[in-house]
Amino acid sequence: MVSRRLFLSSAALAPFAHAAGAPAGTGGGDRPVVVGSSNGLKAAELALARMQAGVDPLDAVIAGVNLVEDDPNDMSVGYGGIPNEDGVVQLDACVMHGPTARAGAVASLEGIKNPSKVAKAVMETTDHILLVGPGARRFAEMNGFPVENLLTDKARKVWLYWKQNLSAKDKWLEPDAAKLDPAVQEFIRDYGRDSFRDPRSHGTVHLSACDGRGDLAGCTSTSGLFFKMPGRVGDSPIIGAGCFVDNAVGSAGSTGRGEANLLISGGHLIVERMRAGRSPKDACLDALRRIAETTKEKRLLDDRGRPAFPISFYAVSKSGAYGMATMWSTRPSGKPAQFAVADARGARLEAAAFLYEGMATI
Ligand code: ASP
Repeated sequence: MVSRRLFLSSAALAPFAHAAGAPAGTGGGDRPVVVGSSNGLKAAELALARMQAGVDPLDAVIAGVNLVEDDPNDMSVGYGGIPNEDGVVQLDACVMHGPTARAGAVASLEGIKNPSKVAKAVMETTDHILLVGPGARRFAEMNGFPVENLLTDKARKVWLYWKQNLSAKDKWLEPDAAKLDPAVQEFIRDYGRDSFRDPRSHGTVHLSACDGRGDLAGCTSTSGLFFKMPGRVGDSPIIGAGCFVDNAVGSAGSTGRGEANLLISGGHLIVERMRAGRSPKDACLDALRRIAETTKEKRLLDDRGRPAFPISFYAVSKSGAYGMATMWSTRPSGKPAQFAVADARGARLEAAAFLYEGMATI
């Protein structure tokens, strides 16, 4: 039997030959490799380093995702995440481990900044896949996870500003636009002004990884839609939607409008498309097309009948090919859509494949 160490070191030498000339986003087929959302660049880099050191791909992606969960400047995940309507941060996460075909998840978890670690504990120590709300919190406490206030001052100010601007007919007065708090200004710069008006605004971190011998894992973590209804759960903690792994085929995950992904089980769909021979990128585009075909509600469509919301998919195959595709080429912040990749060529952002040019607008 080839030792894991030997295998990893020979895999680490191979990539350059495969990667030569591979255009960005087509996925060179190098192993180990990590693909993920653009806010997960450092996370992907760490996950790759862990796998290169022989760490299991699930532990590697969780370590990467923990960086984003711990970062108060990422206001879409973990500590510092944008709270719900009531000003309470509620987190969702899931993990899936290819070699054992097991998964775990938590939803509407309050007070615990690393929901991905709790999801792994659900996977490893219970007969269940998904724990939610107070039950998930109780489980985390029983397992020694520290309970913390996840609402940072910045997130609180952003939430308050949202509340003050909700309606001209309530008892809140609109703050002076010329005297915006720096925290609010920074939020607008990073996430776009529409993040206040548009309750679909979002962010999440997803990582999918394939190690040197083709073992796969995925992890998704989020604070969900900004200012969501208390108890609202999107796709991120749902196995088959926000993340799905089949160790014989690949791993896939999503960020963006979770409701749209839930309706097509995007993670599972992409893995099945890869099983049928589609490349990771084309499988991601297939999922976006499915959403475009099945989104019927007028309020969700632009004047040309296209889904007027952001949603993205990420995938890696067992051979180490990777890909990503997004509905709109431009993010709500105005920046071009990109995704994170880490392999023997280093960690980098690559341009996203997309279904429609421009920005989602109703
Ligand atoms: N997919 C996440 C959710 O629906 C949020 C996001 O990525 O925008 O909760």
